[in-house]
Amino acid sequence: MQQFSLNTPAEGFIDITGQVRKIVASGNVQNGLCQIFVPHTTAGVTINENADPDVVTDMLAALGKMVPDLHYRHSEGNSPAHVKSSLVGCSITVPISEGRLCLGTWQGIYFCEFDGPRTRKVWVQLVGS
Ligand code: ZN
Repeated sequence: MQQFSLNTPAEGFIDITGQVRKIVASGNVQNGLCQIFVPHTTAGVTINENADPDVVTDMLAALGKMVPDLHYRHSEGNSPAHVKSSLVGCSITVPISEGRLCLGTWQGIYFCEFDGPRTRKVWVQLVGS
């Protein structure tokens, strides 16, 4: 497994496609799977459009509306970030073909920060078939 770190803003989607592509390019898996796992409970990882930056801005706004302002019990005060983390999920899997990450034309991989600024980790595991 390989890992890299990120310094994140308060809340935001950070495009990590380039870092993941580098790991796949330097790995020895020609055909298989790339799993990207975020070991955090107030962050996530997802795939979405990386052409128009308004898409991730809209996604953050929509997630903000989806998670209501309740009287949460968790004393750390970041329950909305925990809920968003579970909604988005903490891992994704992308196919590898001929040593390259197989993403659609408009797809990018995003680290989703819901409780920053923090230093975060991303774990990447390549599995050959
Ligand atoms: Zn917490």
